[in-house]
Amino acid sequence: MDTALANIRNIGIIAHIDAGKTTTTERILFYSGRIHRPGDVDDGNTVTDWWEQERERGITIKAAAITTAWRDTITNQEVRINIIDTPGHIDFTAEVQRSLRVLDGGVVIFDAVNGVEPQSETVWRQANKYRVPRICYVNKMDRLGANLTRTIEMIQQRLRANPVLVQLPIGLENSFAGVIDLFTMQALHFSDELGAHPTIGPIPAELTDAATLAREQLVEKIAETDDELTLKYLSGETISNADLYSAMRKAVVANKMTPVLVGTSLRNKGVQPLLDAIVRYLPSPLDVPPVEGTNPKSGALTHRHARIDEPLSALVFKIVVDPYAGRLAYTRIYSGSLNAGAAIYNANRQRRERAQKLLQMQANKRTEIQECHAGDIVAIVGFKESTTGETLSDATEEIVLEAIDFPAPVIKVAIEPRSTADQEKLTEALAKLDEEDPTFRREVDPQTGQTVISGMGELHLEIITERLRREFGVQCRIGAPQVAYREGITRRTQVEERYIREIGGHHHYAVVTLDLAPNETNGGFAFTNRAPADKLPAPFVAAVERSVTNALQGGTLAGFPVIDLKVTLLDGVFHEMDSTPEDFEVAANMAFRSAMQKARPILLEPVMRVETYVPDEYVGSVVNDFGARRGAVQQMDVSGDGTRTIAAMTPLTEMIGYATALRSMTSGRGVFSMELDHYEQASDAIHERYLGPEWRRLYHS
Ligand code: GDP
Repeated sequence: MDTALANIRNIGIIAHIDAGKTTTTERILFYSGRIHRPGDVDDGNTVTDWWEQERERGITIKAAAITTAWRDTITNQEVRINIIDTPGHIDFTAEVQRSLRVLDGGVVIFDAVNGVEPQSETVWRQANKYRVPRICYVNKMDRLGANLTRTIEMIQQRLRANPVLVQLPIGLENSFAGVIDLFTMQALHFSDELGAHPTIGPIPAELTDAATLAREQLVEKIAETDDELTLKYLSGETISNADLYSAMRKAVVANKMTPVLVGTSLRNKGVQPLLDAIVRYLPSPLDVPPVEGTNPKSGALTHRHARIDEPLSALVFKIVVDPYAGRLAYTRIYSGSLNAGAAIYNANRQRRERAQKLLQMQANKRTEIQECHAGDIVAIVGFKESTTGETLSDATEEIVLEAIDFPAPVIKVAIEPRSTADQEKLTEALAKLDEEDPTFRREVDPQTGQTVISGMGELHLEIITERLRREFGVQCRIGAPQVAYREGITRRTQVEERYIREIGGHHHYAVVTLDLAPNETNGGFAFTNRAPADKLPAPFVAAVERSVTNALQGGTLAGFPVIDLKVTLLDGVFHEMDSTPEDFEVAANMAFRSAMQKARPILLEPVMRVETYVPDEYVGSVVNDFGARRGAVQQMDVSGDGTRTIAAMTPLTEMIGYATALRSMTSGRGVFSMELDHYEQASDAIHERYLGPEWRRLYHS
C-alpha cells in the first residue's frame, strides 16, 4: 500500500494571471495522455479554462481537481497526479489558501519576460506559511525579451528562495529549441509541432562549457544539503545521479531548495521534463507530516498518518454545483478509506451523510470509482449538507481537522435584477455561488429589501456579477461598492445584569456579570469563564457564551459585527427552580449590550496592505496619491527591471476605484495587489456618516 501512496502527487499550479497556467495545465494533461489534442487558450479551446469554453466543449464540470498520470523515469512506476485548481488573482487569496491546505506540492510558473510579478509574491508567502514544497517553471522562453538570469535573481531576491537551475535553455526567444538536462548532460530538442517526441542528443558544442559549469554549480548546491554528499564532493569523488536526485528530493520536500525548469508551453517545448520533475521532486502524501486535528469530544490534539489502516479523516475543500451531477464535494482523504454508497460521518455536524457516488475528474471525462484511499482526492456526489472546511471522520475515532480560515468580506454592493423574471434567477444563482465560494455572502437588507452581496474586494464582486450575466443569464444593476465596517470598544467595563421576572405565570431567574475588554488588533474574539463552578453549572455558562457570540454579529453603534474583543464571565447566580439556559441567554444579551455601550464603542474600518508596481517615472504621483488616500507608504524597492514596488497601508474606504485611478495615473502600466491587514478606528467622517454629527458628544463625552 505504501507504493500506492508513494505514487500519488497532489499538486497545485500556481501562477500570476497570464503567466501560462492554463496553457501549461493543458499541455500536462495532453502529454500525460488523457486528451488528444492540445488546444490554445487563444482559440478558446482549453481543458481547464472554466465557464463558457468548457460548456461549449461539453465539459460541464468545473474541476476543482483533475487527475492524470505520468511514469516516473527513475522507478519506472506510474504516478497519479491530482492537479488542484488554484486561482490567479489576489482577490481570491482565500481560495488560494484553501487549495494550499490540501495540496502537497506546487509548480510555480513565471513568465520569462516579466519574472516575479506582484501576486506571485503574495502567493509565495502563503505557500511558505503552509510549507508547500515547490518547483519553479520559467515559461514563455520563446518571448522577445525572455530573461532567465533576471527571473532567477528575482526569485532569489524578491521571494528569498533558493532557486537551483536543473536545466539550461537551448537558444532563446524565437530560437528557443529545447533544454539541456544538467543531470544526464543530454540535450532535449522538441522539434515536432506538438513536441510529443523530443529527440535526445549530445549537448551542442557552443553550450558545452556553460553546461559543464552549470552542472558543477548544481552538484555543489545539492551536495551542500547532505553531509555524506558534502564529504564525497570535497574529496573529489563522483556523485551518482541517483544520489543527486534523492538528495534534491529531500531538500525540496524540506523546503530548502527550489529546482528551476524552463520551457514554452505554448510552443510545446519543455513540458515533459516538468512532469518528470513533478514526480521526481514533489512530495507524495507519505512525505508530508501527519495531518493534525482535535477530537471534538475530548478536545485532545490528534494526528492521522497517511495510511489506509488508520481511521478515516478527510477534508471537504470545495463545493461545486454541477448542472448534471448536482452538488459535488471535492474531498481530500488524509487517512483510511471511503466507499461509494456508504453513510459517512461528518465530525463538524456530528451527523452522517450518504456518499452516493465517488467521481474522479479527468481532462475529458469523469470516472466513477467504488472506493478511494488515504492520500487521494475525490469528488463526492450526494452530500446535501457537508460543506467546505468540514471534516469527514470515522464515527468512533473522531477527528475535526483545522477549519480553513476564510476572512470575512470587506466590501459589499446592492444588486438589483432588471426584471421580475430575473429576480428568481438571481436568487437561485446567488445561492449556488454562495455554496461554492465561502468568501462570498448574500443577504437581504431588512430596511430596503435590497439584495446585498459581499466579498473580498471590488474585483471579486465584479467577477461574481460577470458570472451572473454569463453563466446564469441574469441581468442586473449594481450599486456603488460599500465598505463593510466593524465595531470595537476602547475601554474595559463590567456590568451585572439581573433577569428576574415573572411572565405569564412563569418565573425567570438569571444573574450574569460580564467583563468586556478590547483585545489586541487581529486578536479576534475570546471568551473566558471565571464564574466559580459551584455557583454556575456548565449549561448556564454555555448559554452565556452562545448568547454573547450571537450578539457579536451586530454591534450597538450601527449594527456592524464586533471584533477584537475579550469577554469574561465573572460571576452568575441561578435559582434552583426558576432558571433555564434561555434565561441566561437573555441576561447575557442584556449584560453584553449595556457593557458595550459603556465601553466607548467605535467604528472600525478595514486597512489594506497594498503593493503597487510602477515604472520609475510614476513613483511620485503614486506616492502622492497614497497621501490623498490616508495611506502610509511603508517601503519602496527597485527591482531588476527598474520597476518600483511601493508598499502602503491604506484604509479600504479610500481604495474604492483604485484600479481605474492607477490605470489613468500610469498610462495603464501600474498594477497592484491588496489584502486585508487589520481593522482600526474609522475616520471621523465615517463615524459622522453613520452616527450623525453628534457622534463625538454621544460616545466620547
Ligand atoms: P493563465 O492566465 O496563467 O492561465 O495563462 P494562459 O495559459 O491563459 O496564458 C496567457 C497568455 O499567454 C495566452 O495568450 C497564452 O497563449 C500565452 N502563453 C502561454 N504560454 C506561452 C508561452 O510559452 N509563450 C508565449 N509566447 N505565450 C504563451
